[in-house]
Amino acid sequence: MAVDLGFVEKCESWRLESRFYPNKVGGKPAWLDLKSILGKDDLECDYCGDPCVFLCQIYAPYEEDSNAFHRTVYIFVCKNANCCRPNQNGNLKVFRSQLSRINDFYPAEPPMEQKDWRMDIDVSQWVKTCCVCGILAPNHCGKCKVVNYCSRVHQVCDWKNGHKDICGTEAKNDSRFLFPEYEIVIEDDITVIENIKQNDPDSEHKEIEKYNAMIQDGKAGTFQNEDVNNDLLQMANDEKDKMFAKFRLKIDDYPDQILRYDRGGKVLYISSHGQITDVPKCPECNGDRQFEFQIMPQLLNFLDLKDVMKCLDWGILAVFTCKQSCIPKNKYIKEYIWKQDIVQEESESRINQNM
Ligand SMILES: [Zn+2]
Ligand SMILES: [Zn+2]
Ligand SMILES: [Zn+2]
Ligand SMILES: [Zn+2]
Repeated sequence: MAVDLGFVEKCESWRLESRFYPNKVGGKPAWLDLKSILGKDDLECDYCGDPCVFLCQIYAPYEEDSNAFHRTVYIFVCKNANCCRPNQNGNLKVFRSQLSRINDFYPAEPPMEQKDWRMDIDVSQWVKTCCVCGILAPNHCGKCKVVNYCSRVHQVCDWKNGHKDICGTEAKNDSRFLFPEYEIVIEDDITVIENIKQNDPDSEHKEIEKYNAMIQDGKAGTFQNEDVNNDLLQMANDEKDKMFAKFRLKIDDYPDQILRYDRGGKVLYISSHGQITDVPKCPECNGDRQFEFQIMPQLLNFLDLKDVMKCLDWGILAVFTCKQSCIPKNKYIKEYIWKQDIVQEESESRINQNM
């Protein structure tokens, strides 16, 4: 059973445009279907109503299905501090888009890795996009009529961030509203190591022993993000959560992994609490969904979180998609995402406070 791992790498931004079918984190979404892109109504946070912001996208075609010759899954997250709630998914949105080999936007042959190759394959040829976040933009600046917005909230945000000074000029406003942009490089040659661990009958026992040794060596919490780190150390010290020990060991060989892609496989949970019990059916075909991939807490280290964004957090983000990858009427079809956090049980935290 092969699990593909994803790692972030800095990359020239032209390589992350739609025409190259990228896997990427941050910046604006590189839309696959260039015409029926998502808008504010699709991406409204369940809690505050603001449009969620692009987090990452994974290009994952179904090789055996001609209707999913191209296939990309997108994750969006709300940037507001109060919307990040433990083991709740209302601040996250996931969508799937797919195309057959012959389609309205891309040539049937693979792209050429050249900066100036087919620059005309771009969402701007089809629809207007929000200059702040890159989603569908039905509104524009009433004064200069040059820049477009998805929503009132992003128009206000852009105005405050500098558009008021450059409105009517050619200047471009760099609002740094988006997450920093990276390529996600996917490695599929780790099958061997995964197999050894899975086939060993007392692997769990050994892993926990190995983990205890790591704690004694002080090597247990090696995440860089301090909050993640503290949570993880807390769990380790409590030694209450076997699931977490397993998690930590499983990723030990490749601690920088931000993605585990294992379509039809199992979620690698970070805790025994807050696991997913019920994945809703695909709203399009009413068929079953299956686990496709998970985003790891390590991605938080690369997001350059400051101010209110410091509150953005997760243990894992597990994505479940339609097993058949049915053909979406809506071009972008909503899939299911579950956020699992490391949360101390109330009774446990009370004990700790008393100590
Ligand atoms: Zn929100
Ligand atoms: Zn916007
Ligand atoms: Zn303007
Ligand atoms: Zn379906």
